[in-house]
Amino acid sequence: MSRRPSPGPELVWAPWRIQYVKDESAGGFEGPECVFCDLPAQQDDARSYILHRGARAYVVMNLYPYNNGHVMTVPYEHTDTLRALDGETLAEVMQLTQRAQAALEEALRPQGFNLGINQGAAAGAGIADHLHLHLVPRWVGDTNFMPALGDTRVIPQHVDETYALLRGAFVR
Ligand SMILES: [Zn+2]
Repeated sequence: MSRRPSPGPELVWAPWRIQYVKDESAGGFEGPECVFCDLPAQQDDARSYILHRGARAYVVMNLYPYNNGHVMTVPYEHTDTLRALDGETLAEVMQLTQRAQAALEEALRPQGFNLGINQGAAAGAGIADHLHLHLVPRWVGDTNFMPALGDTRVIPQHVDETYALLRGAFVR
């Protein structure tokens, strides 16, 4: 179970999830013990939805987004605690998150951001074994109505379109 991301809130329209399940059942995800170690090892950033690789960390889209444009900054180092990261890795995680925010601002014009790390399953970490920092763009009113209907959210843009937009903003 540790290699699969947490499903998170139920999505109304998320066709990429079907492909993800197909890939897994077809053996596409065979082997990896940890999805955050496996994604950069695949060497296929478009398929992995990796937006940028740094020296010590990378930025990847969340395929189970809390909102359109939800990305994560992930150190390559496999650790479950912030305390294990050295200063240079910590600095790069924040620098890449800063760049991701700039890309999101350019591509999606959000009005705010949530930024956070869930450490441990008790804190809500979907993949508790490998630390990752969430960056979630926000718009006024984006969650005011749907959660009342049972933790359901509408993600209006297909993840492939969002990936292309963000990737373009990242390289500029
Ligand atoms: Zn890992």
